[in-house]
Amino acid sequence: MHILDIFETNPTTFSFEFFPPKTDKASADLFETMAHLQALQPSFVSVTYGAGGTTRERTHDLIVRIQQETNLTAISHLTCVCHSEAELEAILERYAASKIENILALGGDPPRNLQGYDRANDAFQYADQLVRFVRSRLGVADSRGFGVGVAGFPEGHPGTPNRLLEMDNLKRKVDAGADYICTQLFFQNADFYDFRERCDLAGIRVPILAGIMPVTSKENLARIAELALGARIPARLLRAVERCGDSAESVAKVGVHWATEQCRDLLDNEVRGLHFYTLNRSDATRQIYDYLGVKDSQALARRAAV
Ligand code: FAD
Repeated sequence: MHILDIFETNPTTFSFEFFPPKTDKASADLFETMAHLQALQPSFVSVTYGAGGTTRERTHDLIVRIQQETNLTAISHLTCVCHSEAELEAILERYAASKIENILALGGDPPRNLQGYDRANDAFQYADQLVRFVRSRLGVADSRGFGVGVAGFPEGHPGTPNRLLEMDNLKRKVDAGADYICTQLFFQNADFYDFRERCDLAGIRVPILAGIMPVTSKENLARIAELALGARIPARLLRAVERCGDSAESVAKVGVHWATEQCRDLLDNEVRGLHFYTLNRSDATRQIYDYLGVKDSQALARRAAV
C-alpha cells in the first residue's frame, strides 16, 4: 500500500523495522518473528540497507519476499552512499516491477572498511537529492510515484552540530518531496516533543514517526551507543540497568518497561506513529503491546484516539 493511503486510513501508525539476515537459519528465524509480529497488524514494516553488495541484495530479496509471502506492506531503505545514478535507477525499476511502493531515502553512513571508497564519487551526497531522484521516477503504476520517507534526529545528527542548519537540511528533504519523517531512536520523550515543535516552526507539516528501541541487554545498550551516534542514554535508565546486576532477564524487563512508558506517553501526546526497531526479534515488541493492554495495532490506534 502507498504510504499516503496508510496515513489516510491510520490516524496513528505502528511499524516494525528489520535488517536483512546473513544466513538461512537467521532468515528462517526472521520469518518466524514476522509471523508473530504480523498478528499485531502493523501499518507497515521496513528493511534496512547496508553498504556492501551482498547485504544490499539481501535487502532486496527480503523486501520482495515479504511482499510476496505476507500481507504486510514492506518499505525498503535506500542510501546515497556507494551508488551511481544508474544503479539507483535499476534498483527502483526492480522495486516497481515487484510492486514495492515506498522507499525510505537516506544519506547512509560511509562504509568503514571499503578500500578506495571516495564519497565524492557517489551520485548524491545528501538525502534530499535522493528524495528528489526517487520522486522523479515512475513507481508502481500510480501517478503519485513512490511514497518516500526520510530520517530525522530528535537529539541532533552528529554531522551537523548547528541545530538551525540541521533543521534547514531536514526541511530541504521535505521540500524535495518526502511524505513522512521517521526518527532515530531516543529515550527521553522531551527530545521528541521539542523536535516536533521545531519541525512545526520550520513549516514541516508531514507526519513524524517516533523511533522506539527497547534495551534488550547490556550488550545491546553498548551497541545502541555505538550505532546511534549522539543518542543520549539517561542516567535514570543507566541506573535501572545497573541495578539488574548480572540478570539478563531483569535488564530485558527494564528495557521493555522503559519503552512501554515512552509509548504510553507518546500516545497520550498524539504521536502520529510509533516505529519499533525490533532487531529481528518479536518478544520485546509483543510485551510492550501486552503492557499497553492491547492485542494489536488496530486496538492500539482506537485507544490512542480516546
Ligand atoms: P542526510 O539527510 O543526507 O544528512 C546527513 C548529514 O548531512 C546531516 O548532518 C545533515 O544535517 C547534513 N546535510 C544534509 N543535507 C545537507 C546539505 N545540503 N549541505 C550540508 N549538509 C547537509 N543507514 C544506513 O546505512 N542504512 C539504513 O538502512 C539506515 N536506516 C536508517 C533509518 C532511520 C529511521 C534513521 C534515523 C537512520 C538510518 N540510517 C541508516 C542511518 C543514516 O543513514 C545516517 O544516520 C546518516 O548519517 C544520516 O542519514 P540522513 O538520511 O539523515 O542523511
